[in-house]
Amino acid sequence: MNYVYGPVPSRRLGQSIGVDPLPPKTCNYQCIYCQLGKTTHFTNTRANFYPIEDITTDMQTAISMNRNKFDYVTFVGSGEPTLYKDIGILIQKARQLTDKRVCVITNGSILNNNKVSNALMISDVVMPSLDAGNENDFIKINRPHPQIEYQSMLQGLIDFNKTYSGYFWLEVMLMKGINDSREKLLEIKQKIDLIQPDRIDINVPIRPPTEDWVEIPNDIVYERIKEIFEDYSNINFPEKGTFEHSQGNFEQELLKIITRHPMREEQIIKAFTSSNLSKKDIMKKLSHLESENKIIKSEYNNQIFWRKK
Ligand code: SF4
Repeated sequence: MNYVYGPVPSRRLGQSIGVDPLPPKTCNYQCIYCQLGKTTHFTNTRANFYPIEDITTDMQTAISMNRNKFDYVTFVGSGEPTLYKDIGILIQKARQLTDKRVCVITNGSILNNNKVSNALMISDVVMPSLDAGNENDFIKINRPHPQIEYQSMLQGLIDFNKTYSGYFWLEVMLMKGINDSREKLLEIKQKIDLIQPDRIDINVPIRPPTEDWVEIPNDIVYERIKEIFEDYSNINFPEKGTFEHSQGNFEQELLKIITRHPMREEQIIKAFTSSNLSKKDIMKKLSHLESENKIIKSEYNNQIFWRKK
């Protein structure tokens, strides 16, 4: 399977089968906190990067192999999924294949495009992002494609949620000294009040960010968040649960996950230890893949992470 991975544990969605219809890393943002590394394919042009039939076949296989092991089918992956032109057809196919919820995790940048908003209307959950309360911070944090303006992006979020009947859960990534001051939080909250999401998920960069100067806010900020966002918010911490993978080649299965989802070393050991593969074997394999320049180790927040080179 090339376009579908998991189930993987998600901080907000339990166990999730991920559908990734994009070449790595295709996005119209270059967020300073992105866990996938630098945007190598910086575009705002929508296209069917891979054939619909091939992605559908992968969805079908993953769903039938994992019948009772997942809660959501989630469109996410190597960038911004709404850049896949026929994402609406893929969402429809997912709905036909399972009665589990279908979710789209998006940066929300092009919800102001009717084709994109119509396509996402049939999903059960849409999870957009908003990390900035003004254009300057938007440019500093998300480093968007020049065609994307803050005000029209924001209007897209507001208008979409006026007609959308599914769950609209907004994610805000907070970073130390960048958007975690009282003034910045109030400005973000003011924009969120216009959008009226069903829930706000406050995140902090728990995995290694693209820019190494990005940091997790100090604990003191949590009190400020609670005061400003009140009960509306849900502050997220590292995910619980296990990463599922197909039996077979360790390298292929590991790369499939960490291309889209960097893993903590302890998560890799937990997911791959078996009667044929001990912790020692896994550590040897990780070192070998590192020496072949296929994966890269980084230390962040006192934890070891592995991601694809
Ligand atoms: S965090 Fe999401 S929107 Fe930002 S650069 Fe990474 S993939 Fe794109």
